[in-house]
Amino acid sequence: MKLLRYGAPGIEKLGALDAKGNIRDLSLLVPDLTPEWLAPERLQALAAIDLDKMPLIDPGVRLGVPVAGVRQFMAIGLNYREHAREAGLDIPKEPIVFSKAITCLSGPNDDIILPQDSVQTDWEVELGLVIGTLARQVSEDDALQHVAGYCLANDLSERDWQTQRNGQWTKGKSFDSFGPIGPWLVTTDELADPQNLAMELKVNDQVRQHSNTADMIFSVAKIVSYLSQFMTLLPGDVVITGTPAGVGMGMKPQQYLKKGDVVTLRIDGLGVQTQRVV
Ligand code: ZN
Repeated sequence: MKLLRYGAPGIEKLGALDAKGNIRDLSLLVPDLTPEWLAPERLQALAAIDLDKMPLIDPGVRLGVPVAGVRQFMAIGLNYREHAREAGLDIPKEPIVFSKAITCLSGPNDDIILPQDSVQTDWEVELGLVIGTLARQVSEDDALQHVAGYCLANDLSERDWQTQRNGQWTKGKSFDSFGPIGPWLVTTDELADPQNLAMELKVNDQVRQHSNTADMIFSVAKIVSYLSQFMTLLPGDVVITGTPAGVGMGMKPQQYLKKGDVVTLRIDGLGVQTQRVV
């Protein structure tokens, strides 16, 4: 199932993508994809809906973050070897963890707003996951049972705030519009193996990142298990799993986003995002 939320920011409604790629409205049955709707039995109920009978929605409609009521937004750093190398940092022995403010979440095709005076705003295509059931100290074997589904994410990063202002990366990762998620939440029944997905990011039609989730250092199962050892993951929480090589910080000379740029990213089966930099 590909679940989505459509409409203006803050008043999105629940929809789903049908087999032909049309957007269908589900909001008369379920107004919004709140965390409780991510439980397996609720997702099964949504999957049982005959989408062909649901109202068609204009394909040009704005899409929002595919889940409502996100309470925690966690991220993994340096989870691809080549990216650690381009950043000039060691391959981590344990996952590097940071958080992004939930206020940075935005729709998959919403504008990227350059922070005032920013000269180092960078792109990062990533596989995201959404937690379906509470996860506390779960084993790696059980971890994927706590995942409701997967989504495409861009982990936008202001490198000066991230690396030159002391302390946590959170500073460079949390500006408004720095967390585009979507277009859809692809539930795990449709995407059983998250570790073999091609991924790509372009800036103005030039390929900058091209990799596969098979190259992750720590798998999705490992990441969920690891996070759950020191924090409780709640339904609706979003976790993004690291970016491959090809970010602007790693280019020689370094290259960052500027007003007017267009960023396009995709992961197999998870759709496409297009963002304009403003
Ligand atoms: Zn990242």
